[in-house]
Amino acid sequence: MMNNFTSNIHYFRRISQVLAIGLIIIIPFSNLLGIHWVSGTLYSMSFGSLDFSDPSLILQTLVLVKKISLPFFISGIIPLLLAMFLGKVFCSWICPFHLLSEWAYKLIKKIKKISSTANKNPKRNFNLVIFFGLLLFIFLSEVPIFSLVSLPGIISSQVADLVIIRTLGIEIFIIILVLLLEMFSLSRFWCKYACPVGLSLGLTKFKNSLSIVCDSSKCGKCPQRKQNPCKTACSFNLNPKELGIYPVCNNCIECVSVCNENNGALQLTFNLVKKTNIRNKNNNHNKGE
Ligand code: SF4
Ligand code: SF4
Repeated sequence: MMNNFTSNIHYFRRISQVLAIGLIIIIPFSNLLGIHWVSGTLYSMSFGSLDFSDPSLILQTLVLVKKISLPFFISGIIPLLLAMFLGKVFCSWICPFHLLSEWAYKLIKKIKKISSTANKNPKRNFNLVIFFGLLLFIFLSEVPIFSLVSLPGIISSQVADLVIIRTLGIEIFIIILVLLLEMFSLSRFWCKYACPVGLSLGLTKFKNSLSIVCDSSKCGKCPQRKQNPCKTACSFNLNPKELGIYPVCNNCIECVSVCNENNGALQLTFNLVKKTNIRNKNNNHNKGE
């Protein structure tokens, strides 16, 4: 059952991403028709009386205004809890920019005929330094940089503007610029290191969060080991066989899906006991090498 799910993950994820874009388009139309059960953008959205807000915006408000209303604070709790337990699944399953960025990356790889670029997992604290550096910048400059560069927020508000006031703002050029820079640099750097939404969600990871672990004894017997299909599957150029994929990894599970077609060494688990067992097994395996 789980194997079937992971094998078809790419299709499930695409359906979810397309549905999310559909929702972003339907909301302003339904609001125009006087239906307000669901409203808002990916900055902040309401389903009936349930509100969800981007946690990075809540932090930004706290830094800029030094106070925050209780309902606004609570609206950031569900996205944070979701990220704490499931990882950055908002990014891999919902964010419209992620889909555009994945397509742009695929296209440029095809044009340049590149199967995979060199992958060394990034330093763990790199994202932490960027995030708190940006917060310090907001504090000192009083510029709300998080809302200005939140690409999911920009895309959804631009769609709403297009539907309601039939116009697009200058913000659309930020999306185009980031996509072009990603294509030229052959790197999905925005989602890895720059997006305030992804950076804030990545900070919530703890030891029992849903994570990818590699059973290296199984991996060692993989018939495709030299081709590294799992590394090639990762559009962030992470190496899921080694430690250090978090907080960049957004649990898109593309690597696990590819691995399942081979030796099934990559596994997705919440289970701390299982993680520890696999790690111990790997250590013993490495010692025996
Ligand atoms: S990191 Fe930001 S732009 Fe990238 S997928 Fe996540 S929310 Fe979207
Ligand atoms: S390491 Fe795997 S799950 Fe993480 S982003 Fe890369 S392909 Fe997706």
